[in-house]
Amino acid sequence: MQTFRTKQEVRNQVRAWRREGLTVGLVPTMGYLHDGHLSLMRIAKREADRVVASVFVNPTQFGPNEDFAAYPRDEARDLAQCESVGIDGVFLPEVSEMYLTDATVHVVEDRMSKVLCGVTRPIHFGGVLTVVLKLFHIVMPDVAVFGQKDAQQLAIIRRMVRDLDVPVRIVGGPIVRESSGLAMSSRNTYLSAEERVRALSLRRSLDFAEAEWTAGRLDAEALRTAMRRILAEGGANVEYVETVDADSLEPVAELRPNTLVAIAARVGRTRLIDNTVLA
Ligand code: AMP
Repeated sequence: MQTFRTKQEVRNQVRAWRREGLTVGLVPTMGYLHDGHLSLMRIAKREADRVVASVFVNPTQFGPNEDFAAYPRDEARDLAQCESVGIDGVFLPEVSEMYLTDATVHVVEDRMSKVLCGVTRPIHFGGVLTVVLKLFHIVMPDVAVFGQKDAQQLAIIRRMVRDLDVPVRIVGGPIVRESSGLAMSSRNTYLSAEERVRALSLRRSLDFAEAEWTAGRLDAEALRTAMRRILAEGGANVEYVETVDADSLEPVAELRPNTLVAIAARVGRTRLIDNTVLA
């Protein structure tokens, strides 16, 4: 497994692979890897001949009062994890390698980035789209894999690729959960044992949503109200519970297939997100 610290190094290797006629997959991450990340890497290996993972805690997607400085980092462990799933190259740039301090061009999305997490994180998705487009231009992958865990991010990246004719195929990977049902997240490391128990109310409220849908109860507002109650009773501080179309993120009044049921909630000081898409 190779490691690349500069854009030029990764570009040179990808060009060499392409000359051999090999296809390339990309899995962007912020590191502190867990089984959710590794599942995306395994998917990428099925989809492409060579796979590059990036590990970059992207400062431009964190708001001024968010956890950029505190975000967990463990490069040695991340490299061992990538090696264990057979990644071909890991791109680990410094912030200064990725961004010129006087950069003035950014990706802006007008609509989907303003709902759900975008309400409390107004600069987040612009930062995500800009770094993802830069990674696409640096690595030039045929396919890139993103997790359904960040359903809004996945939908907005698909929209960017559609609207800007980016020649990359986007593949989504299912949410990987701990045996308790808690969705894996690098931020779970912030949770105390007692907070982990409270965090299970997210999954509980999504199970309730699935059961209501299966039972044919389609009133989205009634569902959201009941889910808020489950979350509050479980000790989670609800930021939002939304029912939207999984592709457009437009609100849904009556549940239907492809409805994204999405939650953001705080448990203690940790902000958690989770979701399910009704089939
Ligand atoms: P992050 O390192 O949090 O930026 O996540 C990198 C990629 O891993 C994103 O595409 C996430 O959606 C995905 N991811 C994070 N957690 C999970 C999970 N529990 N299951 C599946 N994918 C995940």
